[in-house]
Amino acid sequence: MPEVIFLKLAVPVPVPALFDYLPLRTGPPPDPGVRVVVPFGRRRLVALVVAHAHRSDVPESKLLRIHEVLDGGRRLIDPELIDLLSWCWRYYKHAPGDTLFGALPPAFKKADTALPEQPLRFDINAKGRERLLTGPGRAPVQWQLLDLLERGQGSGEQLRQWRADWRVQLRKLKAKEWIIEAPEPCPVLASSEGPKLRAEQQAALEAVRADLGRFRCHLIDGVTGSGKTEIYLHLIEDIIRSGQQALVLVPEIGLTPQLVRRMRERLGIEPGVYHSALSDGERIRSWDRAGRGLAPLLLGTRSALFLPMPSPGLIIMDESHDASFKQQDGLRFSARDVAIKSAADLGIPIVLGTATPSLETLHNAQSGRYAWHRLRERATGAEQPAWRVLDMRAQSLEAGLAPRTLESISSTLDRGEQVLVFLNRRGYAPVVLCHDCGWCGACNRCDAHMTWHRSERQLICHHCGQSARLPRFCPDCGADALQGAGTGTEQLEDFLESRFPDVAMYRFDRDKTRRKGAFDDMVEAIHGGSPAILIGTQMLATGHHFPRVTLVVIVDLDQALYSADFRAMERMGQLMLQVAGRAGRADHAGRVVLQTHHPDHPLLEYLFRQGYERFADELLGQRRMAALPPVAKQATLRAEAHQREAVRAFLGAAKSLFKSDSGEIHGPYPALMERRGGRTRGYLLVQDSGRAKLHASLDLWLLSLRSIPQARNVRWALDVDPQEF
Ligand code: ADP
Ligand code: ZN
Ligand code: ZN
Repeated sequence: MPEVIFLKLAVPVPVPALFDYLPLRTGPPPDPGVRVVVPFGRRRLVALVVAHAHRSDVPESKLLRIHEVLDGGRRLIDPELIDLLSWCWRYYKHAPGDTLFGALPPAFKKADTALPEQPLRFDINAKGRERLLTGPGRAPVQWQLLDLLERGQGSGEQLRQWRADWRVQLRKLKAKEWIIEAPEPCPVLASSEGPKLRAEQQAALEAVRADLGRFRCHLIDGVTGSGKTEIYLHLIEDIIRSGQQALVLVPEIGLTPQLVRRMRERLGIEPGVYHSALSDGERIRSWDRAGRGLAPLLLGTRSALFLPMPSPGLIIMDESHDASFKQQDGLRFSARDVAIKSAADLGIPIVLGTATPSLETLHNAQSGRYAWHRLRERATGAEQPAWRVLDMRAQSLEAGLAPRTLESISSTLDRGEQVLVFLNRRGYAPVVLCHDCGWCGACNRCDAHMTWHRSERQLICHHCGQSARLPRFCPDCGADALQGAGTGTEQLEDFLESRFPDVAMYRFDRDKTRRKGAFDDMVEAIHGGSPAILIGTQMLATGHHFPRVTLVVIVDLDQALYSADFRAMERMGQLMLQVAGRAGRADHAGRVVLQTHHPDHPLLEYLFRQGYERFADELLGQRRMAALPPVAKQATLRAEAHQREAVRAFLGAAKSLFKSDSGEIHGPYPALMERRGGRTRGYLLVQDSGRAKLHASLDLWLLSLRSIPQARNVRWALDVDPQEF
């Protein structure tokens, strides 16, 4: 009798286990990586085969049989990716089904989603060419299509962009035997020469080159404009030339278009782009092309990390310090850490590029675990910006700007140059209050004030999105005395417009750039070069470079100095340098004015006088003293519920179950913003000096957490290596 094979399946449900099923009675059992349909309770669900097993803990008579094998038994993901994802669910203590299906295009959860067919490429043949010569005649659309094919624009992707009914048109040409079809070939490089690399760029490039084909983590720690992207382009070219694939990860979707353009211009190929803003169909096609090796260059946000790659050669992570690389829900993974793990498993190098390495990364570089390449000069030879710390104490401010700041803005504009004013607060004013009785407009669902958006006459909560009409009179005392307190970008724009009525004004924030193309239109206008003021939030901090901007004003980042989050200072320093990096060009060194109430703060001194590395070193020293990450390893158990009592009861019970021979547990603490979206949030903090020890206690703890009766009254999750509290 043949031996029974059991299938270990990942089912997309929030249960922390794989499920055992029996294969169909006939045919070979589906391979790991294949989709199947299974009965699950009263439902039919799509599941993924993770492994075959020769035994099961469940008696065979109790096991259910799968209903169907999907995709003709073709594997969606290969064994390496299954291994990486199973490492993820174990490391981040997340449900396997959720982890695996979260890594695939979302439409694969539906049984009727089909795998795309082999992409084809269409060419015109001799007979078709004869027809082309006779002109459009009475079939202009068909003629247009022949013309496209004649010009070599005949891949499925290109034709899709031509007309929605391209398949119909193509079928007509095919019936007339005017075309040849063949599987789409892999794109070939058509690279053009870039600038000659400077010595420090060349050294970094050679060091990574020497490691192609084996794992090593390279940190390219280079100031903005030092030519990191140029190094990436050279490496990508090497990789593609050797027939392998390169994966480039960026923190935000907004950074992809300019990088796509630069890659297209320099390498002559179109990168395969993958991120969550693509439609279901686009995601599946991108994913499929990656897996077929038709996209030698892949570019995307953190989800692109799980694209199938038949011949991986290199991973590059740009702006690797960026907090967006940590996913904050579902599988709470750090794309940086998983990318490094992936490169190690695949035996390929990984490059982390940044102007402001995170302390975790710096710690690893200092200890010699990463190869560390410093680029301290701008590639174009431009000077680093000069900093001026402006004491705001006892100054009379207008829209948050000190008189001397206004003088600097004015003289810069007079010289025909541009100014960037950075304020990380959108809306007109962050608070509305009653001057008579002190009433403040607070959100009733969050521990936060509602932001006044004057042009919309609305109060909007930036944390839960709730909005309300701005009342005419104070809801408490009825006085006609409501006024805004503090400054947001909308108010700053109003003020600067009245102060500099002849100067072009561009405001970059989520409200102003909602319209598709608005961002790019403004960027283009600014590159025109006439005097202008740019007002921007975080959105403007990375990616774009504005050579005509010679003055950057940082209105207020003092909050970080008072924050209870131990990472606040690190993020503030990174943000300041990122913003400062937007400015300046070869012949005009940029200047940065930082307004602060703490001009003598030692950390600010380090940052401006001695640079980021000195600043980060100081912070690292503090973290070591306080035994905080990266020295210690942390995890949090988060819980939220409508009732504060439920959160407290669950966390209290959970705490009493925690056992460890070395780790510490602290809390329960309220989250930094305790109420959000109508829910109360709290957490326990677990900390240990070693990762292995931390994980051993977490795994034990997790087994007991599920049996806590109070768990039913809360939503809870473990967050390993948390970035937010
Ligand atoms: P980063 O990615 O570090 O911000 P980029 O690679 O974008 O830097 O380079 C900044 C600018 O300098 C770009 O316009 C780039 O073309 C140019 N550049 C880079 N390397 C060189 C070089 N070796 N010589 C001249 N220009 C360079
Ligand atoms: Zn009042
Ligand atoms: Zn709210």
